[in-house]
Amino acid sequence: MSNHNWSLAIHGGAGTILPAELTPQKELAYHTALQDAIAAGSALLQAGATAADAVVAAIVSLENNILFNAGKGSVFAHNGTHQMDAAIMAGADKSAGAVAGITGVVNPILVANSLRLQGKHVLIAGADAALFAKAEGIPFADKDYFYSEQRYQQWLAALATDSLALDHSAPKLSSTDTLSNQTIATEAAKEKKFSTVGAVALDSFGHLAAATSTGGLTNKHWGRVGDTPIVGAGTWADSRCAISCTGWGEVFIKHVVSHRIAAMVEFLGISVADAAHCVIVQELGLSDPDSGGLIAIAADGTISMPFNTVGMYRASAKGNSTAVSESIVAIF
Ligand code: ASP
Repeated sequence: MSNHNWSLAIHGGAGTILPAELTPQKELAYHTALQDAIAAGSALLQAGATAADAVVAAIVSLENNILFNAGKGSVFAHNGTHQMDAAIMAGADKSAGAVAGITGVVNPILVANSLRLQGKHVLIAGADAALFAKAEGIPFADKDYFYSEQRYQQWLAALATDSLALDHSAPKLSSTDTLSNQTIATEAAKEKKFSTVGAVALDSFGHLAAATSTGGLTNKHWGRVGDTPIVGAGTWADSRCAISCTGWGEVFIKHVVSHRIAAMVEFLGISVADAAHCVIVQELGLSDPDSGGLIAIAADGTISMPFNTVGMYRASAKGNSTAVSESIVAIF
């Protein structure tokens, strides 16, 4: 029976998003991208779809936008490939699917969701994951689809200094450049930010789901896997909460961030918002400042979006079957 209100939250990455660098045009581009993704998920929830279907729709919208480090806009690994990670988990049955280090697929989240729906395995990786996706009929694109000048320059700079890069070091633009989304993405590369994407939802049946998708870190060692596809680290959903993280993957794996929050809710009886704030702001904020943030939804629909960075691209909406009652887009 569908009789609950629904809630949806998304993120497009956290980091050192510099207010001074955020021109009105850039702000508008990010707002539009976030609004499109929240609209895609909200339309499904309003029509009575499941939380899992809604988070997939929101992630696909973000993966198809070059502004974000997921799908089309994925960063370059050290060997010049785009190795993508994604995961989805449905809280009602704890069904989970994840893919690590996949190349060439347009929407990694569809691969993760196919694995979840098959119900046999939880995590599939590398070249064999691509074979699985092809067998499932999931669309692929050639290398050009994933190319962006911003990501390429970012990779060259990281190669030159043998460093891992979050999202920075692109060259300054000439004043004659037009402000296309590609250009906006290039400007964004001057800022240090993670731009992984994520979505969490509570559907009208009272069920929760979480999904996350990323290209990882620029110049990462090929084969490196971050927190995104690790169930309990970057992505988690159960009957109490749904959580999607963004940030320095190694930190989020070592702190088992999303499951840690779920366990605090279960065993300490505190709210999802309090647990999320405690882990991201109090714990990681001290041990690993500037390490990232997350979005979370509790079973009662309460949304929390804590981060220990300067900003986090994020949006949320709430509603029922007839109307959207609240819709927010924010960066700082
Ligand atoms: N968490 C991602 C990773 O480490 C990066 C990000 O959030 O942008 O792969």
